[in-house]
Order: sequence, then structure tokens, then C-alpha cells
Amino acid sequence: MEKQGKIRISSENMMPIIKKWLYSEKDIFLREIVANASDAITKHKKLADLGDTTAEEKYRITVTADEKAGTLTVEDNGIGMTEEEVEKYITQIAFSGAADFVEKYEKAGGDGIIGHFGLGFYSAYMVSENVEIYTKSYKEGAEGVHWASDGNSTYTIGPCEKEGRGTKVVMHIAKEETEFLHESELRRLLNKYCSFMPYEIYLDPKGDDDKPINTTEPLYLKQPKECTEEEYKTFYRDTFSDFNEPLFWIHLNMDYPFRVKGILYFPKVKKQVELERGQVKLYCNQVYIADNIKEVIPEFLMLLNGVIDCPDIPLNVSRSFLQNDRQVQKIAAHITKKVADKLTELYRNDREKYENVWPDISTFVKFGCIKDEEFYQKVKDIIIYKNISDEYRSLESYFGEEVSDEDAKAGKEPQAAYYVSDMNKQAQYIKMFKDAGLDAIVCDTYIDPHFISYIEYKNPKRVRFLRIDADVAGALKDADGREDQELIDLFSKVLEGKNVKVKTEKLKNTAVPAIVNASEFMRRMNEMNRFYQMGASPEDLTLVVNAACPAVQALKEANETLKSAGAMQIYYLALMNFRQLTAEETTDFVTGYTEMLLRSIKEGK
Ligand code: ADP
Repeated sequence: MEKQGKIRISSENMMPIIKKWLYSEKDIFLREIVANASDAITKHKKLADLGDTTAEEKYRITVTADEKAGTLTVEDNGIGMTEEEVEKYITQIAFSGAADFVEKYEKAGGDGIIGHFGLGFYSAYMVSENVEIYTKSYKEGAEGVHWASDGNSTYTIGPCEKEGRGTKVVMHIAKEETEFLHESELRRLLNKYCSFMPYEIYLDPKGDDDKPINTTEPLYLKQPKECTEEEYKTFYRDTFSDFNEPLFWIHLNMDYPFRVKGILYFPKVKKQVELERGQVKLYCNQVYIADNIKEVIPEFLMLLNGVIDCPDIPLNVSRSFLQNDRQVQKIAAHITKKVADKLTELYRNDREKYENVWPDISTFVKFGCIKDEEFYQKVKDIIIYKNISDEYRSLESYFGEEVSDEDAKAGKEPQAAYYVSDMNKQAQYIKMFKDAGLDAIVCDTYIDPHFISYIEYKNPKRVRFLRIDADVAGALKDADGREDQELIDLFSKVLEGKNVKVKTEKLKNTAVPAIVNASEFMRRMNEMNRFYQMGASPEDLTLVVNAACPAVQALKEANETLKSAGAMQIYYLALMNFRQLTAEETTDFVTGYTEMLLRSIKEGK
């Protein structure tokens, strides 16, 4: 005889709330039901280990869809339940667990619980009109129990015929949810949530040669020393469907004081222009929770691909709680440390490989430094840059001694480190640098401007970065610092109204008549403004006239027309080496040039 009962927890109000909130993630119901089946098997196995029962030869979970009947069935051969247990665990615990979940969820503002973990058995009602349970306990002499409820206020329970131990959950799928009866959709969901679950899962099993949909012992659970390179690569390909080989990987395997297992892969970067999101999948005891959970995994690590299994994280709490959880913070710190250790080890032991992969990992490392002070402290010695001679050098080797406060007061600045942002556009400056035996680093990725600002901020007394065209480096000029007033007057007059300062230097390279410098500060301000889409200020340019250049000296002796025409040409030549001319400047330059040409042709006749 089936008994009827009333569910004591008020569940009438739960469904609309759960349906509304979880609308986009309804499919987690399958994870919850299969995870329960898996737990039931684990319990049975443990009892067998303790000698309380005999272990099953083949533990398994089957998922079967019957489109005609409109049912989806999940069956396990785990511990099973007696009638009292069904009353207690399903009618009371599962329903109150869901009520508890709804309450926590509401507090967290609707979007707070990671992967909607913890809804449990009740989640079946997100897609079902009715759920039935057929179960038989492992206990000797146990009988089959049948339970059924529409998830609202009443249920029925009573004995039934059931072959074999374990539990069968039959979900009568709602009319609008019939996609959950399609094999392809079920396969997709089982692959997403259950790929690494510890017992074999079969979808719509047909015969003996069926293959389980999951890997019961995912590679990340093995000891690192037992894994081969090939296995790591295969695991990567299968898990991320990326057919490019990963550059290298980090196997996390920690049991104490907390448990973290997983593998983080450094993927090959496809394009350098923006941060490429990776995919770090979070698991809890081999059950998939969600991707890229920034409350658990440091944000910058999300540029990598990986799987991380943290069985100890309380996932049924709100995200904001997790953020401040000490345990979670320790796990995040541990992962960060492991990543830094791996990079350091590579740098120390295989510099060639490190340099080879650097273009692919440098954005990650730089972003990580900016985002995470501790990571920066751990990797600051192994940040490398290419210089203008195409050799890698450590960034720190460009730092100077710390400037004391006293010296700073007296006007001493931290060491200047010059950089190039565009090898082609700054070619003239680079040539001068090379001729003078000076060095500069190449900062040409989009993250570099932010990164060098960060490095200056972290090392304010040891380094300041100047773009190669920001000023004239000491070694490029003669010690004699006197200005040539005559030249200054001449050029200032010609450039009147152009908002360009004029000064003179005696450059060692006498072939260059003049160069244009732009204040580092103003340029960075403008770059930042542009970044935030704010208006830019006018350029702060200085024309440095080379008093050591014979052409410049000759200008002094020329007649007035040639003097101004020549000075103007020199200015434009210098400007062209600094940036592209505007339309107006180009016209002006071409007109002046043609006139000069005409004059010299006439004179030469
Ligand atoms: P949780 O799994 O978080 O405890 P659930 O609502 O999913 O919450 O399930 C409530 C309880 O019902 C479980 O703790 C378990 O005791 C029991 N249960 C659920 N599914 C099964 C199953 N397939 N076999 C045996 N017991 C089950």
C-alpha cells in the first residue's frame, strides 16, 4: 500500500523562485542527480572496505532517456535507501536543503552561488513535472521502496518490486523541456559535468561493448611522476579541444594542509593584440562546477587553460563569502606560487626554452604582476625583454642603484632605461643608439606601457623608462653643454607659431642635422587619455638641432631665404623620423622642398 504524506517544508514557493533564477542553468540538474548516484556508490564502496558488505564487481551509473514515455532515468548500484531513509533524506533533507539553498541564494542577490552547487536532488524539478524514486537498500532483507512527488506539497511512498540494490530516479520531463530527452543534448551535458566522475557512466546503454562517457581516473589525479608527456598532451587535447600543443604545464598535487589537484596548461598565444581568455575548469571531487571562478582562482591565471579540483571549497555559499574565505585564499596563493616556481625553474634550467616561449607567456606574466603583488615578487627577476640588438636581457639589469633621498632632493633622478615602441618608426634613433653603443629594450606589445608604469611604481628609486625619442641620452652628445644661441634664434624664428621648443646639442653623430624629442610625461598622459577615450593635449615637442652637423653650421652663412628654407627642411626631416607628418605638414614640406630644388638646379646650370 502506498502511503501519502505532506511535505512539511513549505515548498510551494520554491519552484517559481528556483525556476526564475536558474533558468539559464537548468541543465545542472543532471549533474546533481548523477553526483548523488556517484556518492551512493562511494558510500557502498566504503562500507565494503569496512567489511560491512561485499563490494560490487562493477559499479556503474546509467542514464537512459525514453522519448515516448517522456522519462529520463538515472540508475546506480550504490547504497540504496530504506523507506525510513527515503522519508528522511528525500522528503525532509532534500526538500529542506533546497529551501536552504533558495534562502542563501536570495541573500546572495540571485547570482551568488557558484555553479549553483548544493541544490541537490530537488533540482530535478527544474525540468520535471514528476519525479519517482525506486530504491533498495544494501541492508539484508531490504525491500524495494517507491516514492513519487510533483515537488510541491504532497508525495506518496510505499513498497515496490525492485531487482538489485541501488537507486533509480525517474524524471518525467516537462513538455517544454524535452530537449533533455535527446541523446545528443544528454551526451553534451554528461561530457560537460561528468567527464571525470569516479564511476563509469553509460548513456542509453545498448549492449556489452558500450563505452562509458567518462574517464574515471582523470590524469590530474595521478602522481606527476607517473604521467608521461604524451598523456599530458592527450589530456589537454581531449579536455580543451585545442589541437595546438600546449607550451608546458604545471601539475598541482597537494594533499596537505588542503587538497588541490589539477593541471594548468600554458597555451600557445594566437594573437598578441588582446588578452585571450583561457578556460580554467573548477571541479569538486571530480564533479564539474563552473569555469573561470575568480573567487577561487586568481584572475590572471584565467589566461591559462586548466582543470583544478578543490574538494574542500565550500561551494554552496555565496561568492562574496568565498572571496574572504581564508582557506580559499590559501589555495589561490598556493596555485600562484606553483606557477611562479615553474616559471623560475624553466628560467634557471632551460633558458633556451624559456626564451622561446616568452613571446607566448609574457603577456600572462606581465598581467599577473600587475594583478598580483605576490606573483610579481616571485617572478620579478625572471622578466626578460628583447633589446635593440635582438637579445634577451633581464629587465632588472636595466635598473640602477637606489637613489638616496638626499640625492633625490638634489635633483638626481633614478637611472633612465630607454625603450623602443616601434622598431621601424624609431629606426633613426635606434641607429644613433647602436652607433654610440647604447642599449634600449623593445616594448612593443599592448600591455607594455601599463607594465613599465607598474615597474616604475614598484621601483621608484631605481629606474625610470624613457622612450628612445624622449630626450638625448648623455652618451649621444659631447660633454660641452654650451648652447648655440645663433642657431636657436634662427630655428625659433622659422618655427614660430608651431609650438615646438628649440635647443642645440653637439651630437657625436654629425650626419644627423636635428632630431625631435617628445616629453615622456606628456606622451604617456596622452596615451592614457586616448585609452580612456578622452581628448589629448597638444604634443610637447623639442627640436634638438645638432650644432656638430656641417650642414647646420653652413646654414649660418647662407642668405636669408635659404636660411629659413633650409631650417624648415631640417625640422621636417627630423619630424618625419619622429612621426608621420600631417596632411598640412606634408604639403608645406613638399612645397618648400620643391622651391629649394628649383633654386639649386637654377644655380647649378
Ligand atoms: P546532498 O546530496 O547535498 O546531501 P540531495 O538533496 O542531493 O542533497 O540529497 C539528499 C540525500 O538523499 C543525500 O544526502 C542522500 O542521503 C540521499 N540520496 C539522494 N540520491 C541518492 C541515491 N541515488 N542513492 C542513495 N541516496 C541518495
